[in-house]
Amino acid sequence: MSKEKSKGQALKEKLFYDPKHAAEMISDAEIKKADKFCEEYKKFLDCSKTEREAVKYVEAKAIKNGFKVFDREKKYKAGDKVYVNNRGKSIILAVIGKKSLKEGTRLSAAHIDSPRLDLKPNPLYEDSDLALFKTHYYGGIKKYQWTAIPLSLHGVIVKKDGTSVEINIGEDENDPQFVVTDLLPHLGYEQAKRTLGDGIKGEELNILIGSRPFKDDEASEKVKLNVLNILNQKYGVTEADFLSAELEAVPAFKATDIGFDRSMIGAYGHDDRVCAYPAAEAIFDIKNPEYTAITILTDKEEIGSDGNTGLNSSYFKYFVADLAWTQGINYHTVLSNTQCLSADVNAAFDPTFPDVSERRNASFANKGVVITKYTGARGKSGTSDASAEYMGKIRKMLDDNKIVWQTGELGKVDAGGGGTVAMYLAALDIDVVDLGVPVLSMHAPFEVISKLDLYMAYRAFKTFFEDK
Ligand code: MN
Ligand code: MN
Repeated sequence: MSKEKSKGQALKEKLFYDPKHAAEMISDAEIKKADKFCEEYKKFLDCSKTEREAVKYVEAKAIKNGFKVFDREKKYKAGDKVYVNNRGKSIILAVIGKKSLKEGTRLSAAHIDSPRLDLKPNPLYEDSDLALFKTHYYGGIKKYQWTAIPLSLHGVIVKKDGTSVEINIGEDENDPQFVVTDLLPHLGYEQAKRTLGDGIKGEELNILIGSRPFKDDEASEKVKLNVLNILNQKYGVTEADFLSAELEAVPAFKATDIGFDRSMIGAYGHDDRVCAYPAAEAIFDIKNPEYTAITILTDKEEIGSDGNTGLNSSYFKYFVADLAWTQGINYHTVLSNTQCLSADVNAAFDPTFPDVSERRNASFANKGVVITKYTGARGKSGTSDASAEYMGKIRKMLDDNKIVWQTGELGKVDAGGGGTVAMYLAALDIDVVDLGVPVLSMHAPFEVISKLDLYMAYRAFKTFFEDK
């Protein structure tokens, strides 16, 4: 016999805001669907460790799904699918809606760059019979986390003759890998007195890449010579070619299930491929939307969205202008009526470090997709702060469609802070709020997310694109 709820209990359920574990809110069939969705996500992660690789993966999948390169001179009809590849490092996907572009679009924007170690322009040197690469870290990292873990090397080298070679070493099981060495604890007495932030300094993030000399009695720097000789034979490159290269060292780990219950995924680069992937999948899966649907996967978010592949550049505005042109409309009308989900992660509450969060306003792994009304730092500086009206619309959409969601602030007031691409879209007069997946160990070489949260993000983007 089931017990009747007390009056107070029933009233509490009606009046209190109390987000619940997603597994308790959805059916077993939907949990199964979520787990299946995540298997493909893991494959995507393993072959998309850089912005270039993510664009390549998404472009190939877009073409398979009927997307064609956008041409402003063409006339498009509802249901047509177009894309723009911006310099191989960001990509815009759009499905033309039934309504005129005058009514605006439904936009999701995620970034596909992640914190990592970039090689310096002149990286290769030899010291004490070891060959090493100098690096300059990219994005916000805790430098000590990047030592003594296997690294792979990804990117592109443009050679003197103008041809380019793509590099991807350390992902295949037959490949060699690389590593930043750290000091043994036995001799780490002085190092242990450093602050955590200085435990490993930027100029100590040197990657070990070789140790055998080129056989020759006269030449010096023979280990470096041997490494360059290997690179020259394999890729036809010389040392000067590093000057026109973009080479990124990233963790060589594969994405893997975490926990006895396999409820989570550990991987490099969840931030923000965990939002980019569902935003892309959602646009692949919609058919004949009312509003034109757009997904942007952008670069350079981790260093402030600057550069011509970041959202602080005009590339997105120009795309909208060209799209508007195809319908003979002013682009600013399109932008002003556009609604956006800025797809970005938030910090999941970590019981080991509870002090940095304020529980009532923190996001938790497994409580669904997280809406972040504002990010920023020191009194909401550097953010867009979504309006009550727009929050109301998104909240209703999620509730009406039984999408499990929660709210989240990025940590306690004055504990630190951060930003997303939301403010750059707001600067275009777009209504925008951050929506994404809570992450544990964010920006670490191995981050953790919940499978159900990721699936809820996918459902949120898809439902948003289906707006009537
Ligand atoms: Mn992010
Ligand atoms: Mn980030």
